[in-house]
Amino acid sequence: MGFTAIVATFKTKRFLLAPAKAKATSEFGGQLTRTTLGAAPLARSPTLRNNAPASPITLTPGEVPQGWGDPMQQRLSIFGPVLGLVCLISAVSLAQAQQNPKLYVFSSGSLGGFPKAALQIGGQGNIDWAPVSFYVITHPKGNIIFDTGNNDKTITDPDGWWGPLAKGFGLKMTQDDAIPAQLAKIGLKTDDIKYVVVGHLHLDHGGNISQFPNSTLVVQNDELKAAWWPDVGYSLYYIPGDFEATKKMNIIRLEGDLDMFGDGTFRIFRAPGHTPGSQFAVLRLKNTGPVILTSDTVYLKESLDKNLIPPIPGTWSPKGMYEGYQRIRLIRDTEGAQLFMAHDPELFKAAKHAPDFYD
Ligand SMILES: [Zn+2]
Repeated sequence: MGFTAIVATFKTKRFLLAPAKAKATSEFGGQLTRTTLGAAPLARSPTLRNNAPASPITLTPGEVPQGWGDPMQQRLSIFGPVLGLVCLISAVSLAQAQQNPKLYVFSSGSLGGFPKAALQIGGQGNIDWAPVSFYVITHPKGNIIFDTGNNDKTITDPDGWWGPLAKGFGLKMTQDDAIPAQLAKIGLKTDDIKYVVVGHLHLDHGGNISQFPNSTLVVQNDELKAAWWPDVGYSLYYIPGDFEATKKMNIIRLEGDLDMFGDGTFRIFRAPGHTPGSQFAVLRLKNTGPVILTSDTVYLKESLDKNLIPPIPGTWSPKGMYEGYQRIRLIRDTEGAQLFMAHDPELFKAAKHAPDFYD
C-alpha cells in the first residue's frame, strides 16, 4: 500500500472541505510521511485570528443623519454608536471564543474489579474502578469525537455484546452513558460530529462508531485490517459488530501521522504497539496548551513512568509499545503537554468532565 493514493484522496477531501483556506497542498503529503516530532507546524491558522468582520459602524464626522434636530434623536445618535460598538466587541469576542477549540472529557460507563495485571505485566492487586474515556473536541473546522466508548448495546445486554469480558472487566453502563445522552450534555447530536478519530478499534474505543454513519472515520489502515482480520491470539478485544459500519463510512485511512487541519491544532501520531494500527492525538488549546489523548498507547501513568507494558493481547508488539511510550514522553516533555489516558483512574478523577471543558 503506497502513500500516494492516500495522500491524493485526502488532499481532495481537504480541498473540498475548506477551499478558501487551503494553503500549500504539499504540507499534507509532508505530514503523512514525516514521523519526527518537529514535523507538525504549530502556527495558528489565520482563520482563528482574523475572523473579525470589517466594522459595520462608520461614523463620519460632519455627516448629519435625518432628524438630527430632535433632542431624543440626538440622544439616540450619541448612544447608538456606543451601543453598537459594545455589541460589536461582544460579537467579536463571542465569535473568537467559538473559534477556539474546546476539549470535553467523558467516560463511557466504567470498568472495575479486575486484576491490575491485565493492564500491566507484573501489576499487583486489583483495579477497583477505571474510566473508559472518550473525548469531544469542538473545533471551527469540524467537531471531532476521539474514541467512542463501549457500544451502547452493553447498557441492556452487556454479556450478549461483550461475552465473558463484561463480567471479567466489571463493565458498568447506564442509560446516561449512551452516546446521544452524553453528547446532549454539551448541546450536540451525533450528526454534529464531523470526524470520528479512533485510537484503535478495541471494544471500549470503537464501540459506537456505528452511531456516526454520516461522519468521516479517521483511522490507521493497519487498524482496520487488524480489526477485521486479527492476528491469531489478538481477536479477543475486537467485536465485528462494533465496526460493521466501517464498510459504508467515509474513511480517511492513514499510514502515518497527520496534522488534521494543517494548523497544528489537532495532530494524530501513529504508534503501533498496543494494536497494529494504534494512534494517539495531540490537541493544542489556546489557554490549556497542548494535551495528549493517548487512547491505549499507554494505559496508566505508572506504566509510562516505570516503562511497564500490558500482557498479550494488550500488547501486540512490545517493541512498538515501548517506542510509543517514548514518543509520548518526548511530546510531553518538549511541548509541555498534559496527558489524558483512557483508563487511568487518578488522571480521570483529577480532570474536568463534560459539560465542563478545557479551552
Ligand atoms: Zn485497547
